[in-house]
Amino acid sequence: MSIFPNSDICETPVMTANLIKQTDFDAIIIGGGACGLMCAVQAGFLGKRTLILEKNDKVGAKILISGGGRCNYTNLYTTAQQFISENEHFCKSTLSQWTVEDTIRFFETYGIEGKEKTLGQLFPVSDKAKDVVNVFTSLCVDLGQEIWCDAEVKSIGKLDGNFIVSIERCGKTEKLSVPKVVIASGGLPIPKMGATDFGLRTARNLGLAINDTAPALVPLTITGKDQPWYEQLSGNSIFCRVWNDRVSFEENILFTHWGLSGPAILQISSYWRPGEFIYIDLLPNQNIAELIQAEREANGKKMLLAYLAGLFTRKFAEALSDKLPADKNLASLSKADIEDISNLIHEFKVKPAGDKGYDKAEVMRGGLSTDELSSKTLEVKKIPGLYFGGECVDVTGWLGGYNFQWAWASGFVIAQNL
Ligand SMILES: Cc1cc2nc3c(=O)[nH]c(=O)nc-3n(C[C@H](O)[C@H](O)[C@H](O)COP(=O)(O)OP(=O)(O)OC[C@H]3O[C@@H](n4cnc5c(N)ncnc54)[C@H](O)[C@@H]3O)c2cc1C
Repeated sequence: MSIFPNSDICETPVMTANLIKQTDFDAIIIGGGACGLMCAVQAGFLGKRTLILEKNDKVGAKILISGGGRCNYTNLYTTAQQFISENEHFCKSTLSQWTVEDTIRFFETYGIEGKEKTLGQLFPVSDKAKDVVNVFTSLCVDLGQEIWCDAEVKSIGKLDGNFIVSIERCGKTEKLSVPKVVIASGGLPIPKMGATDFGLRTARNLGLAINDTAPALVPLTITGKDQPWYEQLSGNSIFCRVWNDRVSFEENILFTHWGLSGPAILQISSYWRPGEFIYIDLLPNQNIAELIQAEREANGKKMLLAYLAGLFTRKFAEALSDKLPADKNLASLSKADIEDISNLIHEFKVKPAGDKGYDKAEVMRGGLSTDELSSKTLEVKKIPGLYFGGECVDVTGWLGGYNFQWAWASGFVIAQNL
């Protein structure tokens, strides 16, 4: 029996050959999510037989809830720039082997037309994420790919050149022998939907490097004396530019009773680190000082509050008024007043207390270090026959369909190499 380096997962005393079931699958795919399903289908197209092992009672749980149940399945403007990774070049090979056009064509072939909602985000015309999952489950049946649900993989080991996959199914432990294994078990977000640390734990046990993980695409919280200010605006949404010293996004922000959410905040959260500020331009692409100047020439008696209520909502202008001379009329604003207004509107500083954690995060940042994988095949360099794809790898997309594009593409690439 050969044992992985640093591994405590081989359970040498109990893993005797006679308890192990030899399978005739070319590969076992751990995780029936976006990456695993695409991998099984693409392997099937190539005449390879795979078995998907899925812990949940159904596959594609995250696809079903994605995009508010509508599934933003790719983004027309995908490039490597929309992915965060310690090695920003790593995803390029995968994304070029399975492009956005491939995703679009694949779904069209199986009856899903896409429509662009905003910023290149493609959704099924039907607005039904379950149509996306159905494509995969039907293809798996047609192609003879097997799916076992309620089958949680506990560990993997190696015996006589084959992988031994230990699973728990129907209260029983089984050990399956197979030549290749794909780890597509996703990241840590939404544990109540089946997320596990299996990919990370296994990588760690195999002595593979992991880059720090954290919730990403996640709402940010505000606590302490500032919290009531945000709470009073709960439900208000404003188009903004949100930035820090790494990146900038122009989309909506949403005030909530515990802090900030909305697409621009989710985007910046992936680049935010505890203790840092983020900056918000509440009136992007306009200059408040120039606007006030023009308005006061025409209507100097107008109160600043009334003017701001015209630019924003009344509610938002009232909330801003405790930070501004809102009861002054425009004509009486001093140069210093206008400078203060301009700073507040164009560089609103926020120091989040934290984030809403994995219960509310859409993805996990970090994961298996890409140094451990061949960028061409996604095979573990030190362990031939073992592959990692999808969210458990340190490749994290922006909001907007990029994460699924990575999941489909990595599933495809692995399938070509099984
Ligand atoms: C609320 C929400 C909305 C989202 N919306 C979008 C969107 O619209 N567009 C987009 O691009 N991305 C979206 N995402 C992100 C996207 O869902 C993920 O990036 C993508 O699902 C990752 O695919 P994956 O196959 O790597 O992992 P997953 O889809 O998470 O699949 C992993 C599977 O492995 C299973 N598993 C885990 N451990 C084990 C084990 N030990 N044994 C057996 N099975 C196991 C899990 O149950 C799961 O089914 C959203 C995420 C969330 C949470």
